[in-house]
Amino acid sequence: AERARLAGGKGPGRTADGHPVDLMLNIGSAADLAGVDLTDVAGVGLFRTEFLFLDRHDAPDLEEQVAAYTEAFALFERGTIVVRTLDAGADKPLPFLGLPDEPNPALGVRGLRVARDRPEILATQLEAIAIAAERTPADVWVMAPMVSTRAEAGEFAARARDHGLATAGVMIEVPAAALRAARFLNVVDFLSIGTNDLSQYTLAADRQAGGLADLLDPWQPALLDLIGRCAAAGKASGRSVGVCGEAAADPLLAPVLAGLGITKLSMSPRALPAVRASLAEHTLADCERLAARALETDDAAEARAAVLTTT
Ligand code: PEP
Ligand code: MG
Repeated sequence: AERARLAGGKGPGRTADGHPVDLMLNIGSAADLAGVDLTDVAGVGLFRTEFLFLDRHDAPDLEEQVAAYTEAFALFERGTIVVRTLDAGADKPLPFLGLPDEPNPALGVRGLRVARDRPEILATQLEAIAIAAERTPADVWVMAPMVSTRAEAGEFAARARDHGLATAGVMIEVPAAALRAARFLNVVDFLSIGTNDLSQYTLAADRQAGGLADLLDPWQPALLDLIGRCAAAGKASGRSVGVCGEAAADPLLAPVLAGLGITKLSMSPRALPAVRASLAEHTLADCERLAARALETDDAAEARAAVLTTT
């Protein structure tokens, strides 16, 4: 009956045998939650904050940010809200930063790197998140994008804690970070894998280049391999490792990710019912078997086919 209920599209994220996989939402502002049924949703796994910074000549001040975060947090009476600090750069240029043109913007000053020269932007944002977090019963976590080294991760977590934010993590978007995930987990509380960027940097394929879709495919075994390493590091340390890129929205890939050891999947509200239903159709042992099959292949199409013929 429980299995039928889950397959019917209700309940928290679970495999057929009850192994929990938190299903969470990716949002870009409070407006994205309008009309969304939040029952059985574990919270927000990725709150992109760029919307506050777009189309302006000055950064939003503390008060404006507090108001925007408070509005979004108010929609949750429980659960976790993972707020990502400003991710500006190549694919998200922000005029107020006045960053110089770069020949390779995807490899330039983006994400957390902006804080090297403009630490006050990060400080104001962390302070605003901390103030808004005090006003909600939900658990507010904070994470940084585009982190490459453990030192960057540790520095970010230290800054977050300075502002009273107890749970600080980083996105895994750079292969260097994925390879060192276990050591990152000594200095941060959780990891969230941004597969959109992690594919771009792992396969060396511009995420905006439509002609390279085959390389950017989240089924690429190299990407799955890195995800598996991060998940294993999470398991060994007892810390949370989630996926918040587009990969998490693919219902066929969800059991593979669960089988690799991922315990949180964050996606657009639209994608969530199919992912929930797919997880509910597989036991954890099924998921592990599918993950092993996918890892034994050599390209994305082969990985997908291997999983399709196993299910
Ligand atoms: C990602 O890179 O997978 C991610 C979730 O972040 P964004 O798409 O905002 O770069
Ligand atoms: Mg990203």
